[in-house]
Amino acid sequence: MVNNEINSSGNVSSSALENGGGLPARYMISAALPYANGLKHIGHLAGAYLPADIYVRYLRAQKRDVVFVSGSDEHGTAIPIQAMKEGTTARAIIDKYHPIIKQNLEDLGISFDIYHRTSEPIHHETSQEFFTYLNDRGELDIIDSEQYYDEEAKTFLADRFIKGTCPNCGFENAFGDQCERCGTTLNPDMLINPVSMLSGNAPVKKPTKHWYLPLNKHEDWLREWILKEHAGDWRATVLGQCKSWIDGGLQPRAVTRDLDWGIKVPLPGLEDKVLYVWFDAPIGYMSATKQWALDNGKDWKPYWYAKDTKLVHFIGKDNIVFHCIIFPVMLKLHGNIVPANVPANEFMNLESDKMSTSRNWKLDMQDYIDDFIKKENGGSQMADVLRYYLTTIMPETKDSEFTWKGYQDANNSELVSIFGNFVNRAFVLMHKLCKGKVPPYHTAFADDLDKQLIKDIKATKENVESLLEQFKFREAQFEVIDLARKGNQYMQKKEPWKKLKADGDVITIIAENGRELADNSLHLSLQLCANLAILIHPFLPFTAKKMLPMMKVVEKMLEWENAGRVDLLKTGYSLRAPELLFRKIEDSEISYQLEKLKKASDAAAAKKDDSSQATVDSQEKKAEGSQLTADSKSHATDEPINKATIQYDDFAKLDLRVGKIVSAEKVEKADKLLKLQIDLGFEVRTVVSGIAMHFKPEDIVGKQVVVVANLAPRKMRGIESNGMILMAEDNNGKLHFVNPEEAINAGAGVS
Ligand SMILES: [Zn+2]
Repeated sequence: MVNNEINSSGNVSSSALENGGGLPARYMISAALPYANGLKHIGHLAGAYLPADIYVRYLRAQKRDVVFVSGSDEHGTAIPIQAMKEGTTARAIIDKYHPIIKQNLEDLGISFDIYHRTSEPIHHETSQEFFTYLNDRGELDIIDSEQYYDEEAKTFLADRFIKGTCPNCGFENAFGDQCERCGTTLNPDMLINPVSMLSGNAPVKKPTKHWYLPLNKHEDWLREWILKEHAGDWRATVLGQCKSWIDGGLQPRAVTRDLDWGIKVPLPGLEDKVLYVWFDAPIGYMSATKQWALDNGKDWKPYWYAKDTKLVHFIGKDNIVFHCIIFPVMLKLHGNIVPANVPANEFMNLESDKMSTSRNWKLDMQDYIDDFIKKENGGSQMADVLRYYLTTIMPETKDSEFTWKGYQDANNSELVSIFGNFVNRAFVLMHKLCKGKVPPYHTAFADDLDKQLIKDIKATKENVESLLEQFKFREAQFEVIDLARKGNQYMQKKEPWKKLKADGDVITIIAENGRELADNSLHLSLQLCANLAILIHPFLPFTAKKMLPMMKVVEKMLEWENAGRVDLLKTGYSLRAPELLFRKIEDSEISYQLEKLKKASDAAAAKKDDSSQATVDSQEKKAEGSQLTADSKSHATDEPINKATIQYDDFAKLDLRVGKIVSAEKVEKADKLLKLQIDLGFEVRTVVSGIAMHFKPEDIVGKQVVVVANLAPRKMRGIESNGMILMAEDNNGKLHFVNPEEAINAGAGVS
């Protein structure tokens, strides 16, 4: 019934209607497996777990067949590295962090059907079977190569067992698999001055052999499947990154490693080799499904083999290549279904800076739970406040930013003042003017405001549905709050308090038809409260559940098909007194959090005896980086350029001008920065630019440049920079000025 409604209203995106036009028979939903090597922060939560949870709660409310899996990733060099730091064993590390992460996610309302572990025997067996299946069919290549080896520790140095200088940004502590500063994907051969993490010695090269997944053989299929079939329904950012990888030419990818921590390669004589963590980890979704099926007497196979299953991976953008290119090739070769969508999120920053564990610039889920949920009376409500704010700033199309002020505002001026306020008013007035019972609706007195509100309720249901099917969580949640806002406006216009007057138990009619008009407005307001509970439920599950006893209804009311109805609460039914759904967040709580963040990051900085680079003020780091790296990763193995399509209006906001550099000097103690004076015709501007590694100051005086003239000022090394100059970076990482062919007047507009 519900499905027919959706189809006839034409509100479901094409992606939901694949498999021959009907809805999928079942849904297999995964959220990225976090490494069990430490606490996870709210960027992880907003990136993968929260959007997945909203989607799954919505699907369950639609009574669709869905399994929602995730679990701890307990392999890879990240685990033994953490064990070295904590002076313990890899096993102790995973046993310590797995239960904490699991509990944190649960406390924040993430409703997995199973949160599994990759150290479980069922996962080892599943991964080994997967490898054997591909290997037996000749789908893997065996390649001899020379790899770094630590002679003292007598071991090969895979991934994070080796560090060195990043070839992309110059960061001196880049890992063998990735630079944590600029995000570039690396392999140990790319590091400058590599050093073993085990002995601190320079490594030597030694021959070894490994099994490779020949991605190059699947390029045509990937191109067809991602860039053609999914051109219309995958996010532009995801498509952009995939296109860049495919266009860059795919290389065979090793699926084995010379390590002892991990899943043994299931071939005789290879005791020193394990499966690469990025081979086994996504198979974790499948082994988790198997375990869930065992626990619940179900068959796991249709979820991974049946064509009418919709598989969706929720991840952060750093995992796109694994979930859109590598794992799908593995799945295809193994005879499984491939994902219908991979709605990867961009990153969430914190108070103007990238979240970072090493610099302690982050908000761990654990800290939020300790400070807001455990300290509160009935505190799971505070989980919803975090869920709400994170959804309003969910980085769906570009990086976004968490600020404590934004958190406070979202709570105080939306949850408290709009949603909570409406529900509270409706209940208080009903108790005061209607003796605690749902008043009747008098059809003869229906007016246009009533009709409009009923229309709005139905339209909101359809809009939320359509947006969620398209993975547009921010907009979907906005629709619900907007409906509560309309409820407040409705109440304000209907003014039931001007129709009836209550003096204790005595109610006096103080306007013509006052009884009927007050009844009607409160009847509809209460029906709207019931609808708000259903519609907000996927986003704020604790709030929805708190509303149920107030309305004296059971959880079944929250089923999606009930949304849009205005007969959910029966006339004459007595309701309980309202409870406050949200509380105000005080300024003192916000300043406490800001202070705490600063102290923690100062402590982390003091602990570091790294190069001066590591202690560069974070704002500057971002600014320097943006000129040199963040927007210009053009190598095939790097994170590619991928920005969402913008409208002309977005472009038109830029004031681009031709300027002339009239002076340039190095900025003290900042290797990368030049302080430029740029003549824009109407004024001379100071611009600080991160190009000092590429140009000598004396060589660029007199050059014409294109300046973003209306960029907000920003302080770097105490110098206020007023604008930014455009640069192009070639394949070799060399920068070139973007400027007019011939010198023209300074201040000329560029468009
Ligand atoms: Zn780097």
